[in-house]
Amino acid sequence: MNPNFLQTPIPYLKGVGPNRAETLRTELGIETYRDLLQLFPNRYLDKTQYYKIAQLQPSGADVQVVGKIVHVKMVEQKRGKRLVARFVDETGEMELVWFRGHKWIRENLKINEPYVVFGRPAKYGSSFSIPHPEMELLSEHQTGLKIAMQPIYPSTEKLTAKGITNRVVSKMVQQLLLDSKGNFPESLSSSIINELKLISKSDALLNIHFPKSQELLAKAQFRLKFEELFFVQLQLISKKLIRKQKVRGLPFKEVGTHFNDFFSHHLPFELTQAQKKVIKEIRNDLGSNAQMNRLLQGDVGSGKTIVALMCMLLAIDNGYQSCLMAPTEILANQHFNGLRELLGPMDVEISLLTGSTKKSERNRIHENLESGQLHILVGTHAVLEDKVQFHNLGLAIIDEQHRFGVAQRSKLWHKNEIPPHILVMTATPIPRTLAMSLYGDLDVSVIDELPPGRKPVKTVHRFDANRLKVFQFVRDEIKKGRQVYVVYPLIKESEALDYKDLMDGYESIARDFPLPEYQISIVHGKMKPADKDYEMDRFVRGETQIMVATTVIEVGVNVPNASVMIIESAERFGLSQLHQLRGRVGRGAEQSFCILMTGHKLSEDSKTRLQTMVRTNDGFEIAEVDLKLRGPGDIMGTQQSGLLNLKIADIVKDNQVLHTARYHAIQLLKGDPKLEKPENLAIRNAYASLSSVKEIWGYIS
Ligand code: ADP
Ligand code: MG
Repeated sequence: MNPNFLQTPIPYLKGVGPNRAETLRTELGIETYRDLLQLFPNRYLDKTQYYKIAQLQPSGADVQVVGKIVHVKMVEQKRGKRLVARFVDETGEMELVWFRGHKWIRENLKINEPYVVFGRPAKYGSSFSIPHPEMELLSEHQTGLKIAMQPIYPSTEKLTAKGITNRVVSKMVQQLLLDSKGNFPESLSSSIINELKLISKSDALLNIHFPKSQELLAKAQFRLKFEELFFVQLQLISKKLIRKQKVRGLPFKEVGTHFNDFFSHHLPFELTQAQKKVIKEIRNDLGSNAQMNRLLQGDVGSGKTIVALMCMLLAIDNGYQSCLMAPTEILANQHFNGLRELLGPMDVEISLLTGSTKKSERNRIHENLESGQLHILVGTHAVLEDKVQFHNLGLAIIDEQHRFGVAQRSKLWHKNEIPPHILVMTATPIPRTLAMSLYGDLDVSVIDELPPGRKPVKTVHRFDANRLKVFQFVRDEIKKGRQVYVVYPLIKESEALDYKDLMDGYESIARDFPLPEYQISIVHGKMKPADKDYEMDRFVRGETQIMVATTVIEVGVNVPNASVMIIESAERFGLSQLHQLRGRVGRGAEQSFCILMTGHKLSEDSKTRLQTMVRTNDGFEIAEVDLKLRGPGDIMGTQQSGLLNLKIADIVKDNQVLHTARYHAIQLLKGDPKLEKPENLAIRNAYASLSSVKEIWGYIS
């Protein structure tokens, strides 16, 4: 095969003119032969199955039904004529409908003879109808050659409207396979193929589109899934290897006075084993000559902040500056105050830079940063602005990473000639599976232990109708001196309505918890930052007992005396969000509670989410359920979807394949880090043709 065959622009394919090519491009992103070849079927029609009319479902699946036409009539409407046939079997009746080609069909249809019809039933009222079915007399069908399985390709309304039906796409793929003579370059080494008993690349491509049997389909799927994940892992792992070998890091060789002084005199509690372990891992990284790029995972309340602080002290001991970035102003504030408190009288210069930092203060910070006088800068995105220049940034810590995109991460990267060490902290437990395929290039540390004395939060689900009881419970808790959060959803699409809910809720709470006995704070996104902070502070200081808020308080806020979290319309929150919110309580020594309020109408997914929350406090278990419910793209947000843009594999369902792929990628790079050995030539070539590889090299170098 011509080596550039797969790069051929799609209009060169027989049957694809400029119009179709344009539609394929805009609707499916297909520009080359390779793209079309990688348009894998969503599913297959097993034409060996027959359905009864009574079994039909409006599921969108194409099915085969055996029956007879008992009656044909023409129906005239304003929009045009249609030909309608009444089709029956022993279980019921349905309609077959044609909007064109009436004459031919009328003349050829046979009444009262058994037919096999094939098409996609749609439901109208209580009965089904199949538009433009494929028709075959049962007698002919039984003698004819059966295609074992027919591919169904992804489609869109526009494709269908432009006449690019499944049949047309299927023909195109057939044409492509014919043109290629079914011969595609192998992309894996024979040792991997033999060890895993894989079928060849060519066989896999033929059978993924037109499976000769169920068994070959399964083999084709395995081979292609493996290959896809293998190359993703290869990229991630080599990126990591390159970074370790090539990206010079700033060596933090000293464990000096700041770290030691803090450790012996200012540590407010004994570190947990998990915290010690993680600090050790980080110290190893920082002490090596390579740049650290580490993800620190720890459930809410597991004590990541102090780990961050101790790393920043190490930076100071080695003459470097650090910055700590948080996704919201409230959080940045809280970090700033928390760190200052932890540092106590220690000789450390620390400043806060956010969107609302005053001009004069801002100027002072800029100066002190550039002179090197400032040791630690805490802030929001404001830290990333070009004007912010460090004297020598040695360590960048990003808290609650899922709010920051990769682009922002690399912005930090470019603040120095030698990149700073990077520590990404996240409280959203990322399932191992996902961490592996997303962050295969990062090292991962996990704090898998909560500080001692924590009581797990008790979680219950209550219906709105029981609100009075819930309020009585709140009163009792407040009487004991506790504080309470009441959180309302705020979803972009329904902002105005949500806002009204929040205000209505606030008013009703204010009525049930009247002044002067009760003081209530309210915080939401429409408030000025200064007002927000004021309200927040009142709650933090214990001056108000109830905090009514939208999800702005979701991340990081630390009020150990708060023991009740009420989440209104809990069914509208995602699982990880619910878990984050719950993490706001249970931070003190008292028993804490999370109450999920909903109406009676709940979808199946909502029920699963609520049940999961009630059942477990384990962030990793919750993350796994979340991943299953929502799929990986949603969880990590679109900015990371590049790596999740898998064509055939599914990192949740194909977990096992992922592990196998990762294992083989590691083995390969161990034996042949630069893919230079002749037996790995196929892999090398396939790897080089991946477009994403170039980006990675750009990012690294
Ligand atoms: P997160 O991991 O959610 O950022 P924080 O760092 O905010 O958690 O810690 C949560 C709370 O636990 C804070 O009040 C902190 O002071 C406390 N804490 C952290 N580590 C320990 C420990 N080893 N022993 C006791 N309390 C701790
Ligand atoms: Mg935190």
